[in-house]
Amino acid sequence: MIIGAVKTINVTSILDILAVSFIFYKAYMLIKETRGEQLLKGILLIILLIPISSIFHLTMLNWILQRTITIGVLSIVIIFQPEIRSVLEHLGRSAFNDLHVFQDKEKMNEVITQILNAVFILSETKTGALIVIEQRTKLEDIIKTGTKIDAIVSSALLENIFVVNTPLHDGATIIREDRIIAAGCFLPLSSNYNINKKLGTRHRAGIGISENSDALVIIVSEETGVVSLAINGKLTRSYTKEKLKDILLRVILIRFSKKDSFKEKVKMWKRKIIGKY
Ligand code: ATP
Ligand code: MG
Repeated sequence: MIIGAVKTINVTSILDILAVSFIFYKAYMLIKETRGEQLLKGILLIILLIPISSIFHLTMLNWILQRTITIGVLSIVIIFQPEIRSVLEHLGRSAFNDLHVFQDKEKMNEVITQILNAVFILSETKTGALIVIEQRTKLEDIIKTGTKIDAIVSSALLENIFVVNTPLHDGATIIREDRIIAAGCFLPLSSNYNINKKLGTRHRAGIGISENSDALVIIVSEETGVVSLAINGKLTRSYTKEKLKDILLRVILIRFSKKDSFKEKVKMWKRKIIGKY
């Protein structure tokens, strides 16, 4: 009996340790290279210093560190609410990898072609544009901030939306599967300090939504006509139509293919397109 109990404890303990390690590993990978990483290092330092201060009888320091950690945990939840939300959404996405219309390659190709035709016409005429292609993270909160459209994606309609001084040209247009869902939407601005200071709020908003979701974001600069792409908080610039099409199709296929390792492919892709802000 006792041996049985010990065995049960061992198996459950191992499972417990594995589960906790997995969660910590995932959480760390998600906050890596964000503001949260620095904070986590700070907290770990305090946690390390508490027993040290206790061993050396540094009563005052120990008292301050203990209080800091208590208040700190509460502050983290408040300050990092967007990051925590993004981590939970990310976990949800990994857990429920649902099917998508983009499983249909021909349809996907057509949608991307329509979007890119519009993007490069807008680029030629230096018309500012911000187009968000929704992936697995549902962007309901964002859609609510704009005007609902729900029309089949077409180059003509996209061009029309971004005509300057029209009601919908300001803000972002959201595309879900083969439909333009909404326009004039307000996106969260990125809080990344490393973004090139020459880039304004349109680019910051594009990067912002790509940090908070797995959306693919195309940005056309009103000032220069340069076409940029934001994915996973990274902005790459100066795309040609062919290059952008290649990247978009590849990323969408990677994300929705079940056969190969998703992570491996993202790594491959990231290495190829990572560039300077
Ligand atoms: P550009 O190269 O086109 O000038 P930029 O990055 O310099 O782009 P701004 O010149 O600041 O950006 O562009 C302002 C426009 O960006 C606004 O008119 C609006 O359409 C869009 N924009 C700004 N903030 C947001 C936001 N939070 N969500 C969606 N769109 C936004
Ligand atoms: Mg500007």
